[in-house]
Amino acid sequence: MTDVGDPAGTLRRSLRAWLAAELTPEVVAAGTGAPDEERLDVLRAWNRRLADAGWAAPAWPTAFGGRDAGIEEQVAYLEEMSGAGAPGPVNVIGVSNIAPAIMTYGTAEQQERFLRPMLRGDEIWSQGMSEPDAGSDLASLRTAAVADGDSFVVNGQKTWNSLGSLADWCQLYVRTDPDAPRHAGISCLLVDLRSPGVEVRPLRTMTGEHLFSELFFTDVRVPASAVLGSLHQGWQVAMTTLSFERAGVARLHLGLSRKLADLLAEPGAAEALADPRMRQRVAQVYAEIACMRWSVDRSFAALRQGRPSGVGGSLTKLAWGRADQELATLALDLLGMAGTLGGWATNLAASRQASIAGGTTEINLTIVAEQGLGLPREPRAR
Ligand SMILES: Cc1cc2nc3c(=O)[nH]c(=O)nc-3n(C[C@H](O)[C@H](O)[C@H](O)COP(=O)(O)OP(=O)(O)OC[C@H]3O[C@@H](n4cnc5c(N)ncnc54)[C@H](O)[C@@H]3O)c2cc1C
Repeated sequence: MTDVGDPAGTLRRSLRAWLAAELTPEVVAAGTGAPDEERLDVLRAWNRRLADAGWAAPAWPTAFGGRDAGIEEQVAYLEEMSGAGAPGPVNVIGVSNIAPAIMTYGTAEQQERFLRPMLRGDEIWSQGMSEPDAGSDLASLRTAAVADGDSFVVNGQKTWNSLGSLADWCQLYVRTDPDAPRHAGISCLLVDLRSPGVEVRPLRTMTGEHLFSELFFTDVRVPASAVLGSLHQGWQVAMTTLSFERAGVARLHLGLSRKLADLLAEPGAAEALADPRMRQRVAQVYAEIACMRWSVDRSFAALRQGRPSGVGGSLTKLAWGRADQELATLALDLLGMAGTLGGWATNLAASRQASIAGGTTEINLTIVAEQGLGLPREPRAR
């Protein structure tokens, strides 16, 4: 029976039934860790099944293959997927961050060409913002695109490009007007990474995985039709893309809850919890996760009332960084030498990125200070 008054409950039941029929242990196993070449085939096949059943991106409009899901339905979707251990789409950056920008700024041709293959995981997308000298201060980027006939010629370097070694396409931010004020001279290009002149150099992180790549562009020809939005409007496109990346913090507590449950289920964890200091630390991480969830619920309540969600996203990101790193060291202390092996050792190394990715701790503290507490703005480069 469909309950028209409870769309989130309806979606939850429908997804739960679909997952019970479709999700296999092989897919769950492939979803843990980085999507390397070995796991990619399984994840891509799973991605296609999700897309064909309308479960790859419920937040997308139905016209593009989504379900027009509202906030409650999106939360229900994330909770059910996380609870079942079901991997989401391979193209996590594309589906969550880049697609909304293509829907907002893209031409009908761009939407037609890119969204469906992105949704099905047939084409993988990466996001080319950071450069060796442009990270937190994105507006100082220097990769240049110079107009030449009906194309641009791109030269420069990007770094920390997640999924770069797997990606087919890049949402690339370039300087198109070197004489304009910093924020006004940037454009966004949709670039085929198989183009001549593109070199992708995978970066090996301390977990041993190739999570990132450096991208080098040498006289790369990109058609003028590849501009997303208007020429020199790249800053607005970047802010739209980042606003969706920041909205993604709403799901972070789900991953942490699952990690904490996995840790407590490890052999030896129950014995270690006889020590009250260990119980105290578990309780502290549990409380951090609960606060993250309440902070997200509060932001959603504000959005439902048409109010701005304030600095809730920054607060949640800060809490996540702290809790993820504390959970990683807790695993080591709780499990002893067993915590220095396998997945928990990888998790300890990987947790260092939690205070950098998606806006560093210092940048988020500044946002909370200035926009949340109304403290004086720090000096900025023009
Ligand atoms: C897991 C992960 C995935 C990523 N994926 C991508 C991706 O797909 N595409 C992409 O383009 N980039 C990606 N990045 C890069 C990320 O966006 C940058 O690392 C981030 O913006 C910080 O830039 P940076 O590393 O150059 O450090 P910097 O900006 O140079 O900062 C160095 C240090 O100075 C501090 N700092 C900087 N400015 C200030 C200030 N105004 N006030 C106080 N302190 C300050 C920072 O907090 C930091 O501690 C990823 C990073 C990580 C960790």
